[in-house]
Amino acid sequence: MSTPETLREQKYNATVVSKILLTPNLMTLRAVTDEPREQFSAGQYTTLGLFGFEPRSSNSDAEFEPAPPERLIQRAYSIASARHQTREFEFYVTQVKSGQLTPRLFALEVGDRLFVGRRIVGAFNLSDVPPEKDVLMIATGTGIAPFISFLRSHVAERPKSRMVVVQGAAHQRDLGYYSELAFLNHTFPNFFYLPTLTDADGTWAGRRMWIEDILASGEIERETGMALDPERTHVYVCGNPRMVANVASWLEDHAGYRRHRPKEPGQLFIEEF
Ligand SMILES: Cc1cc2nc3c(=O)[nH]c(=O)nc-3n(C[C@H](O)[C@H](O)[C@H](O)COP(=O)(O)OP(=O)(O)OC[C@H]3O[C@@H](n4cnc5c(N)ncnc54)[C@H](O)[C@@H]3O)c2cc1C
Repeated sequence: MSTPETLREQKYNATVVSKILLTPNLMTLRAVTDEPREQFSAGQYTTLGLFGFEPRSSNSDAEFEPAPPERLIQRAYSIASARHQTREFEFYVTQVKSGQLTPRLFALEVGDRLFVGRRIVGAFNLSDVPPEKDVLMIATGTGIAPFISFLRSHVAERPKSRMVVVQGAAHQRDLGYYSELAFLNHTFPNFFYLPTLTDADGTWAGRRMWIEDILASGEIERETGMALDPERTHVYVCGNPRMVANVASWLEDHAGYRRHRPKEPGQLFIEEF
């Protein structure tokens, strides 16, 4: 029988170089792979993996379905870093306290080893969007990760394209990448950041609306000049499945959007976590 040391040596191919906890259950994790990956498109994802024998975080719960110790538990994660970074990858991860992989990812420390997939895949990217078309990105939770990769890769390259992020969360501490997005908002005239909170405390002076209500209110057009028109603006939606379903239905029913499929190109791109 293989020992944990042998299995780690055989399978793990990357090292943690940074781990930042934004809250006890939300973190950015950066890993450097032993070998570079091929060039990828911003918005794509890969897998992260750890063996079932690895320790779980101290604030996790009992496992919903215990993982066998010698199984390499693998899950998909969107890459938040820029597409030219093919050896160092950033991930933005929520801990599912009774899940199999995330409590083990939250127990990692800088210098620890893990598995990072060799393939980077996914159709949630800007390759079908002409450079002059506008791009609306709508996210909740860790759904912001692929948009951070879009912006880090493309915001400076697409000066004729308006790029707008609408980010929804309950509290301000859940607005991942808030500082970076606010900075981009001040720096690039073609980028606009519209955060909104549903359960903010008194210190929040910004929007307190549901994303669906922001779309219906006409605020995006008023604040950014972006038209919710499939001829001019491609829309990307990523995050919580309920938000994704509601927003997609609203765009299909009220603004004439069609969901993009490989054989039937549309202007509405969806990724659910
Ligand atoms: C393309 C893609 C990209 C993704 N990108 C990201 C990302 O960037 N960041 C991110 O955080 N996640 C991302 N995910 C989600 C990620 O792949 C995992 O699903 C997630 O991290 C949970 O993994 P886990 O092993 O901890 O949980 P799992 O063990 O897989 O458990 C997950 C699910 O099991 C069920 N479950 C677990 N415990 C219980 C319980 N006590 N009672 C009832 N049901 C339960 C629930 O349905 C729960 O959601 C992405 C998913 C996809 C498909």
